[in-house]
Amino acid sequence: MPYDYRGAIHVHSSFSDGTGSIDEIMQAANETGLDFVVLSDHNTLRAAAEGLERWHGSSLLIVGTEISGDRAPNHCLALGLPADAPVADLKGKSAQAVIDAVNRLGGFGVIAHPDHAGTERFGIPSYAWTDWTVNGFSGMGIWDLMSDWQEVVEDWTGGMEVYDQFARHLRGPKEATLKRWDEMSRNGVRVAGFGEIDNHAAKRTYEGRELIVFPYAEAFKTVTNHVVLDQPLPKDYAQAKAAVLGALKQGRFYVAFEYFDDAADFQFEASDGDHTVGMGGELHPTEDCELFLQVPSPCIVKMICDGDPLWEEEVESDRLLEIEQPGSYRVEAYRDGMIWILSNPIHVKAE
Ligand SMILES: [Zn+2]
Ligand SMILES: [Zn+2]
Repeated sequence: MPYDYRGAIHVHSSFSDGTGSIDEIMQAANETGLDFVVLSDHNTLRAAAEGLERWHGSSLLIVGTEISGDRAPNHCLALGLPADAPVADLKGKSAQAVIDAVNRLGGFGVIAHPDHAGTERFGIPSYAWTDWTVNGFSGMGIWDLMSDWQEVVEDWTGGMEVYDQFARHLRGPKEATLKRWDEMSRNGVRVAGFGEIDNHAAKRTYEGRELIVFPYAEAFKTVTNHVVLDQPLPKDYAQAKAAVLGALKQGRFYVAFEYFDDAADFQFEASDGDHTVGMGGELHPTEDCELFLQVPSPCIVKMICDGDPLWEEEVESDRLLEIEQPGSYRVEAYRDGMIWILSNPIHVKAE
């Protein structure tokens, strides 16, 4: 029975352009039941240098950084770096130079909000990823709360509901992003799909009203990442951090939208009788091989192989599926027409 831990990824504090202190952020994480938070202040690991990488109550703080230039595209999350890594020097470097440096320093890179479009309403330009010649990155954002909501706002003409009921108006992952991600799988490029919130708790004015977009405790209830571990999360901080980052790097996790329904204990595995692998894993079946799927409550499930839909139906609680062809298999689950769970792929190779 795997162990499932929920976290929020891509969060800004007042150490860069976010408005909240680490204390405020971690208090919100405790309140909303997050097991971990991955901080990503721009071009700084200050929270780690100041010794704040530790358990804060029931939530683990993991300090990454977002390497970004001023109003430039190609933002890269850098995770797993030592606290004294010279990340400020990477600001403004080419996308490939950033990824290479992060790997060299012992961390790994995640392409952030690749299809961000921004919104003129708040004067936010596009920070999309534009350099697709790069290699060596381990992950890519497949859904970002802030990119999603800004696009909703850009088209909105209906008053304050877009803020007061923001979770009801999100559109979910962009088709172009998922298409690119599937293409990578098909080409044998292993890239873990991350859920981002890119939350700053920014102060904005919308139709004359002052807003916070979004209070951390609200954002933490939206796009989450559930890492799947074989052992309970260690109490020791360094071990716990290594376990979470290891799972994230390998793609042993799923992305969920939990504002309306808890997604914990979703499971997705492949087995050939001798071996069982989870998300992010690779199976070389010698004989017949099956996928096992368990959903927390009834939902519509789409099974996708190498980007092509294989089947779609309502699943009550679990399902076994015979695998007839090699490929990268992943799952999307929907409730009330809205995306609820996105698994990372399991890679089934021809023997
Ligand atoms: Zn960014
Ligand atoms: Zn950011």
